[in-house]
Amino acid sequence: MTRLPDTWIDVAIPLPLYQTFHYKLPPDLINHVTLGSRVLVPFKNRKLLGFVVGFPKEGFPKAKPILEACPESFFSKEKFDLLQWISNHYAAPIGEVIKATVPLLKSKNPKKPKPFLFPKLSSMNQLNYTAKKLSYTRPTALNEDQKKVLALLVQALNKKEFSPFLLHGVTGSGKTEIYLSIIEHAIQKQKTAIVLVPEISLTPQLLFRFQTVFPNQIAVLHSGLSQNQRHYEWTKIQAGKALIVLGARSAIFAPLQNLGVIVVDEEHDTSFKQEEKIRYHARNIALVRGQIDGALVILGSATPSLESMFNVTQKKLTYLSLPNRVQNRPLPKIELIPLNQNKTILEPPQIFSKPLLNALQETLHKKEQAILLLNRRGYAPVLLCQSCGYVPKCPHCNVGLTVYLKTNRLLCHYCNQSQSIPKTCKDCEHETLLTLGIGTERVEAELHTLFPDARIDRMDRSSTRKKNSLHRLLKDFSDQKTDILIGTQMLAKGHDFPNVTLVGVVLADTSLNFPDFRAPEQTFQLLTQVAGRSGRGQKPGRVIIQTFHPDHYCFKYAQNHDFLGFYKEELTYRQMANYPPYIKLFNFKIRHPNLLKAKTKIESLAKKIQKIRSQDPQIAVLEVLGPAPAPFSKLQGQYRFHLLVKSPSYALGQRLLKNLLQEEAFFTSSPKIHIDVDPLNLL
Ligand code: ADP
Ligand code: ZN
Repeated sequence: MTRLPDTWIDVAIPLPLYQTFHYKLPPDLINHVTLGSRVLVPFKNRKLLGFVVGFPKEGFPKAKPILEACPESFFSKEKFDLLQWISNHYAAPIGEVIKATVPLLKSKNPKKPKPFLFPKLSSMNQLNYTAKKLSYTRPTALNEDQKKVLALLVQALNKKEFSPFLLHGVTGSGKTEIYLSIIEHAIQKQKTAIVLVPEISLTPQLLFRFQTVFPNQIAVLHSGLSQNQRHYEWTKIQAGKALIVLGARSAIFAPLQNLGVIVVDEEHDTSFKQEEKIRYHARNIALVRGQIDGALVILGSATPSLESMFNVTQKKLTYLSLPNRVQNRPLPKIELIPLNQNKTILEPPQIFSKPLLNALQETLHKKEQAILLLNRRGYAPVLLCQSCGYVPKCPHCNVGLTVYLKTNRLLCHYCNQSQSIPKTCKDCEHETLLTLGIGTERVEAELHTLFPDARIDRMDRSSTRKKNSLHRLLKDFSDQKTDILIGTQMLAKGHDFPNVTLVGVVLADTSLNFPDFRAPEQTFQLLTQVAGRSGRGQKPGRVIIQTFHPDHYCFKYAQNHDFLGFYKEELTYRQMANYPPYIKLFNFKIRHPNLLKAKTKIESLAKKIQKIRSQDPQIAVLEVLGPAPAPFSKLQGQYRFHLLVKSPSYALGQRLLKNLLQEEAFFTSSPKIHIDVDPLNLL
């Protein structure tokens, strides 16, 4: 009689643990377990659910047997390859990667949830746009530029292998039409598609276009869904009932079979980077998934990220361009208005220059619409005592409080705590408190005074907190019930309002002043995107940018719609300062309520890195910055420290990480060390 050999499995436990664990498979369960099965295992006096991630060849006689198994597999081999890539690249525990990307479905037939924000055409009609606005008719034919681009994409799709493209098309050049067309081709070939967009709730129009072209074939995934809704969409996808998944960054993990096309629209957008738990960038994942699934990947943008442009020069992406707006509509004319730099700070700032004021007047007169951008919420960013210089700060965060006059509050934008605005200074008790600077609420108030008859609305995170307020706001603007819409960067994204002929940027310097090497890039992108909202219809558009730094190169290139010029100049600065895309960044972060503990831990991390550098000549070439307090040194009661490593390659940085992670407990014990690979946020 032959005895069945013992069979062992590797199990990933969804805990912050880098290693996987060996277990024995009892003979009666051998046929019940495949890659991706869930198993109940004994783990340090507990019973935990884990995932089967491997079948080791050698034996582990001491391994304990698993207790139960669920035969269904939660991920395919391809998906697992992707998860493992994420675990390696982002130095994230595999169990946590699985937990974060594979929703655990409780039943196979979830109840149909209540409709979401934009699920059906019928409810969209009521909620969002009038029937008139909703009638989206596809253009009868693509133009010559679009045809050329589409032909190349179709060719690549037919090859049925990984082909990555960067589609650089100016705002209103017809990129979305290209996405729709190539996905039509894919569907005809029984292939499926994923379309990633930055914030789906901000772009109902895009979803509507997709639903019109592909009725009943779309699933939507984004963070605003309830668990039940997500579950329902996920099951629909798994059952093959939705061939196209539209969503925010996590939609890249959608369980589609036969994936043909992945689109990352507005690929430069920072919301594709997850800033917690697994710190992945969905654009990266799209490229890796495309490779694993043999799919066409299209990164689209009017203002590509420096990283993606650089990848074009490295031949990692094929460059496609749509240099003109459709139907030869001109790009808007952009004017720069220098603001007076010689004022003392205590003089009230002048919000509108003469040219912007005149342009607003003219727009209102012609019954056209205007968008005003100011990337700062509230009435004023600072309250200051004129007598003693005291500025109220948040007790939990090392930042100043923002003044909200309408509600008479001082609000912290980082922990949301607020207090009423004091009458007298807390320090010197004089009644000499003064607001400094401008925010959207103040611009709104000023507009009401200047244009009492105009219909004015405001779109920022404060005004859109209530459910449906965002959609009401967008609908009113789309229905031309609003004349002027003032808002933060939410306004700059993707909207298509044909009657908007004026875009004003009230103060372009707010984002330029951030202590971040990406500040010029992000400012250029923001300005180009918001300028792109102007003149999208039959009437030509105009853009007025007010700035204290009219000579900054960023504005010069934005004014000339010269993305390539900006890209080249910015690249030289990145090279000089040794920043991405020339090198890779690895950021180690600590957040902890105890200052001393946080500081001690980051210092001992620095020592460990020093030691490895002194022993390993390859790692010695890495540049280490810090440890140092983060620019926001305390937020929400947590002290924040950073240590930044610059590496000439991923391989070398990861070699350092591997070495460090041999001492896993050092990272996972409190205060935890968070590893951020390719960090976007260094604040
Ligand atoms: P982008 O995504 O580059 O901003 P869109 O695809 O949204 O551009 O196109 C902008 C507008 O032009 C849309 O209203 C779209 O329907 C229209 N459009 C796109 N392609 C054409 C075309 N070939 N002919 C006419 N109109 C077009
Ligand atoms: Zn705070």
